[in-house]
This record gives sequence, C-alpha cells and structure tokens, in this order.
Amino acid sequence: AKAVGKGEWRLFEPKMQDALSARLLLEEDIKRGLAAKEFCVFFQAQFNSDKKLVGAEALVRWHHPTRGLLAPGAFIEVAEASSIMSSIDQVVLLRACEQMARWADMPIFRDITVSVNISPAQLYQHHFVEDVLAVIEKTGADPQRLKLELTESMLVTDMSQAIERMRQFKQAGIRFAIDDFGTGYSSLQYLQQLPLDQLKIDQSFVRGLPEDSSSLAIIRAVMAMANSLGLEVIAEGVETEVQRDILFANHCYLYQGYLYAKPQAAEQLEAMMQAEQIN
Ligand code: C2E
Ligand code: CA
Ligand code: CA
Ligand code: CA
Repeated sequence: AKAVGKGEWRLFEPKMQDALSARLLLEEDIKRGLAAKEFCVFFQAQFNSDKKLVGAEALVRWHHPTRGLLAPGAFIEVAEASSIMSSIDQVVLLRACEQMARWADMPIFRDITVSVNISPAQLYQHHFVEDVLAVIEKTGADPQRLKLELTESMLVTDMSQAIERMRQFKQAGIRFAIDDFGTGYSSLQYLQQLPLDQLKIDQSFVRGLPEDSSSLAIIRAVMAMANSLGLEVIAEGVETEVQRDILFANHCYLYQGYLYAKPQAAEQLEAMMQAEQIN
C-alpha cells in the first residue's frame, strides 16, 4: 500500500489501477461475448507441394459488437490468466468438430485434418480427454482427422501426465502437432517419448527467410530431427514464394501462410477452394 495525502491510502498507483480495471472490464466483456455467442472460428488452409489442401487450422475470432473482428492477441492473455480460456476453447473445439462433420460430405475437404490449438490449462484439466471425446461423439466428427496442437512449454509442466493424456487421445485416433517448434526446449530425448505426428516450424524462422542464415540453420535442424523421429513437418507463416521454395528445397513440403490463404470463415475457405478448382 502507498500513502497518498493525509490519512488516505491506495493499494495501487492510479496507472496500475487503470490497467487492472481494464483487465477486469475485458474479462467481463469476454464472458458477455461468450454468452452472446460472439466467438467463432476461422480456418487457415494448409497445403502440400502440389498445392493440394491437406488441412486447416482452427483459429478463434471474436465478432465484437463495437470493436469489430478481434484476433486472439486482443483477449487471449486476459482469458488465459483467468479461467475463461477453457470456455473459449470449448467453443472452438465444438465449432471445429461441427465443421469437420460438414466437410465429410465435400470432396475437397473430406480428407483434410483439422488442427485445434490447446491452451496450457486445458491439457491438465481433469475431464479434458472425456470432454474432447464427447464433442467428437456429439458432432460425428472423425477423430482420425482431428489434430491437437500443443506447445513444448506446456508439455514440460508435467511430462508424465501429458504423455498419459496424449496416449489416451492416440487410442481414439487423434493426432498431435507441436506448435511453434524451435522456440522451446526441444531435445531429441524428450521428443522421442511423446506420441507425436507433426512438428510445426514457428513462423519466426520462416519470416527470416531468405536472408537470415540462422533461421535456415534452425529449419534444417528441425528437418533432421523430424526425419530421425519419423515426424511430419509443416511450416507456418509462409508469405512469399521464395520462402515456400526454400522450404521445399529443404524437404519441408507442407505449409500454411498468407501466401495462399489467410484465416477465414469456413464458407469463405470453401468458396476459395471451389474457385481454385475451376481455374
Ligand atoms: P498460432 O497457433 O501460432 O497461430 C498462427 C498465427 O499466425 C495465427 O494468428 C495466424 O493468423 C497467423 N498467421 C498465419 N499465417 C500467417 C502469415 O503468413 N504471416 C503472419 N504474419 N501471420 C500468419 P492468430 O489467429 O492471431 O492467433 C494467434 C495465436 O493465438 C495462435 O498462434 C495461438 O497460439 C492462439 N490461438 C488462436 N486460436 C486459438 C484457440 O482457439 N485456442 C487457443 N488456446 N489458442 C488460440
Ligand atoms: Ca497453432
Ligand atoms: Ca504456431
Ligand atoms: Ca505462435
């Protein structure tokens, strides 16, 4: 506490007070937005070297009544600090699975995987595995087409627990990717213990291409690691043909990025892919 004038005490500096109330207001606003069903999911296409659609990553968006369309950067930190993130994650998983079920009838989309980001708190939740399996059951989505994206830092929190959970998911056919790969603690020894399918090269390394030689060195190291572990690799944040071609030259054949597709509503992605087919 801090003395301000005679006999008057304040817990925080006015500025801190403002920041705190801003967070609390945002937290309340997120809860309101959830109740009003303002959160939705965008999908970003993932392609192979033939530019065939192979997957889509589900990314949350908030259609805010006054602030417009918000990306996770505008709310995820506050949501993760409180318990609201798990409610957002539930919405995202449900929407993603509903979409997968719909895509099962559309030739271009039938065989793709749909990746869903998992937040740190979620993985260790008591009912996490049951919750995900219940959503799959309810929506009729094919579990073999669902991919969960985890980060290295959330896995090291409790490795044995994480592995146990992942094994349960694997039994249901669900796949795993390590997101933002290369930014964390990756060692071959720890990766070997995890039931993984895919590594996602973080966009910070792709951004460095073609000039930055250390980014290229990291990408090559990731490819070598993935190769020895028998894992698939996808690069994110591919914005130019030059970047894509460097990745191909280094045997990374899967990618997502603004080059061909930004995250967009499912109907937009469908329209884009259909137009592509005609051309
Ligand atoms: P991320 O999982 O690493 O997702 C990739 C981010 O990069 C997305 O930002 C995407 O829009 C952006 N991106 C894709 N291609 C490009 C590109 O070519 N250039 C550039 N500059 N950026 C590109 P977004 O949608 O704002 O999401 C930010 C982060 O928020 C995600 O990073 C993820 O960590 C988190 N997130 C998003 N949706 C969810 C969700 O449903 N649940 C959880 N737990 N986290 C989410
Ligand atoms: Ca991701
Ligand atoms: Ca990522
Ligand atoms: Ca990221």
